[in-house]
Amino acid sequence: MKFMLQIAENVSLSQYSTMRLGGTARYLCSVQTRSEVAEAVAWAITHQTPPIMIGTGSNIIWKDEGFDGLIIVNNIMGYEDFAEDETNHYLTIGAGETWDSVVARSVQSGLTGIEALSLVPGTAGATPIQNVGAYGQDISQTLVSVEAFDLTTQSFLTLPASDCNFSYRASRFNREDRGRFLITGITLHLMKQNPLPPFYGALEKYFTEHSITQYGPAVVRNAVIDIRSHKLPDPATTANCGSFFANPIIDQDALLDLQVAYPDIPHWPTDDPEKVKIPAAWLLESAGFKDFRDEATGMATWPAQPLVLVNEKARTVADLLAFKARIVETVKEKFSIELVQEPELLP
Ligand code: NAP
Repeated sequence: MKFMLQIAENVSLSQYSTMRLGGTARYLCSVQTRSEVAEAVAWAITHQTPPIMIGTGSNIIWKDEGFDGLIIVNNIMGYEDFAEDETNHYLTIGAGETWDSVVARSVQSGLTGIEALSLVPGTAGATPIQNVGAYGQDISQTLVSVEAFDLTTQSFLTLPASDCNFSYRASRFNREDRGRFLITGITLHLMKQNPLPPFYGALEKYFTEHSITQYGPAVVRNAVIDIRSHKLPDPATTANCGSFFANPIIDQDALLDLQVAYPDIPHWPTDDPEKVKIPAAWLLESAGFKDFRDEATGMATWPAQPLVLVNEKARTVADLLAFKARIVETVKEKFSIELVQEPELLP
């Protein structure tokens, strides 16, 4: 087979992670079409090297030893809006589209369904992987299907949302089928109408404080952008991967134990009445990691949101992982809760 794709060799991975750390990739290419995806996989098979697909690297921590395989950077674009009737719109989106520009376009068309996911970094194709969610919406609520190349069967397929095993910040793509599907596109079902209250707590508070009583997709988007911009660092200027730990879900019994020593521990209900969600940010702050700078590793926590670990002058992924371990151990000792890393550690 004759290959047309440009394959780069020995590429630094730090430019493919917004944490700006990581070793070297043996091979790297960029794909813009489905047929280029198939060609890249065929190239990897011919060269007996494993492939990994990535978007912009906003949720990836590479290892210091790098990756002895082929990185496929997804640049598949596309935004098609099919209006079934006045209210029901189906958007088919290329996986390489910048997610926030997809949200901006849908909101401009007056569509509701993903406006609370404004400013989530990364590409559209990454959103189903961890069932991205924020401010009361998650992608599983609007996702119709995922189009992907299946490395197991060596063919393209369309997975309906019901086959994605979505749960809180999880799906088959980051659990049982991690690495199996190279996502090339997604289809969403959005509605041309105004979102209705009640809204997520932080949004309700924002609307009250700003005397906002008329709600539309753009009103929610602007509120989320305002809240996020005050709380989170911009990855373009500050090396970070967003929230570094998932919000832990614990048993009601464990909460009762914790409430003896910490009566004010915040907690939220989950779909399972036996379990509650604890804000990881509160755990970090209470364990002494608010606005914390670690000279030994060059890592820090972001002053307005301790859940965001910031690479100020770390040299290696080992530095980052040492800082992570210190946080995880301290929180575990104090609260008996094991924090779990949210960005993927690859490979
Ligand atoms: P936040 O709004 O202060 O919330 C912290 C925790 O409290 C989260 O577990 C959140 O649940 C929960 N919570 C807050 N208000 C709630 C309510 N009214 N009902 C139920 N649970 C409530 O969190 P933040 O760190 O600033 O993040 C803002 C939003 O972005 C959150 O929705 C967070 O989940 C989301 N986020 C998502 C990702 C991701 O998808 N990987 C990464 C970072 C942040 P929820 O998580 O269910 O909202």
